[in-house]
Amino acid sequence: MESTTFFKFCPNCGSQNFEYKNNFKFNCHKCDFVLYHNIAAAVAIVFTFEDKILFTVRNVDPDKGKLDLPGGFIDPSETAEQAACREIKEEIGLTILPSELTYITSSPNDYLYKNVAYRTMDIIYECQLETSTIDITAKDEIKELIWMKRSEIKLESIGFVSIRSVIGQYYLL
Ligand SMILES: [Zn+2]
Repeated sequence: MESTTFFKFCPNCGSQNFEYKNNFKFNCHKCDFVLYHNIAAAVAIVFTFEDKILFTVRNVDPDKGKLDLPGGFIDPSETAEQAACREIKEEIGLTILPSELTYITSSPNDYLYKNVAYRTMDIIYECQLETSTIDITAKDEIKELIWMKRSEIKLESIGFVSIRSVIGQYYLL
């Protein structure tokens, strides 16, 4: 992802004499104000049922219309498992316990939102379901739910590089 500067002025002194190295460290040369735009932690959940995986179709940018997994950003003070269970409840209305989640791996992602280039670390869990009957709760965020056979998944239809990488590495047949 290209480096983007979302500050036009130093938030502390208003100077335009600053550097923003690698979309990561903002450093004002005039007042020495420093701000780290650190990696944001997020979770994604691979729901499985028989030989199928549950994908969401994104209804918002970035990557609107592309396939994604249920999940989202971890709130301050939450564990990754709590965030996963909260996002699942918010997005598809399922009550899942942290003990029902199996850690798979972590995967870095780029997330451009309203011209701010976030970089995330996506923590991926798997959760096996006994039923494929699921409804969308967060219709503003999710356009559609699709159960896809593992043999029919096309990686190019998945939006985020983190999700594409995990599905490609762990779930393709
Ligand atoms: Zn400054």
